[in-house]
Amino acid sequence: MKIGVLALQGDFAEHVAMLREIGVEPVEVRLPGHLEGISGLIFPGGESTTMRRLIDRWALRDPLLEFARTGAPLFGTCAGMIVLSREIADGDEPILPLLDVTVRRNAFGRQLDSFESELSVPIVGDQPVHAVFIRAPIIERVGPGVDVLAKLDDGRIVAVRERNVLATAFHPELAGEPRFHRLIATMAAEHDDPGEGAGRRHHPTRRAGLPR
Ligand code: GLN
Repeated sequence: MKIGVLALQGDFAEHVAMLREIGVEPVEVRLPGHLEGISGLIFPGGESTTMRRLIDRWALRDPLLEFARTGAPLFGTCAGMIVLSREIADGDEPILPLLDVTVRRNAFGRQLDSFESELSVPIVGDQPVHAVFIRAPIIERVGPGVDVLAKLDDGRIVAVRERNVLATAFHPELAGEPRFHRLIATMAAEHDDPGEGAGRRHHPTRRAGLPR
């Protein structure tokens, strides 16, 4: 199984390394044709305004939306989460509005430009997650279909999942934290083979000949 990493800008190399570490073949996605044959896609951290420009420059917007429609899992970290959000607070147009949340960019201000925190994220297991935040966004609103996966001590939301879309305001790929990548790999395997376990119920159209 192959999982793509959008490789236009940002820390895609760290995601590629993390996928290798967990035994998944990574594919760097720079052109629409690179989406062929991958079972999931990761949107790295970096600078969302630059990613927006490059997605348009390389005519990736429609192919990415089409890929998302297959129900294959998507995972955005930090800027990648902003790329996937339906609403960006304070005016920016959404980029790929696939996740029903409102995010605010650079939400921690200058004092807290970057910080690290131990988070409880039950979906990946009992051991706390060492979360690295770098000029991170915060999730200000979640839609009815969105599960909140993690909050800071003050209650602010920093990880969510809506069906096939997973997003974190922090960077597991920079913290040696493989469990989110394993989760995406498991979701991708279920999506590829919905006959296995509960996957069939989540993706009933999969057998109807939708493109992989
Ligand atoms: N501040 C960046 C943005 O708004 C995100 C930072 C990151 O990905 N670490 O796009």
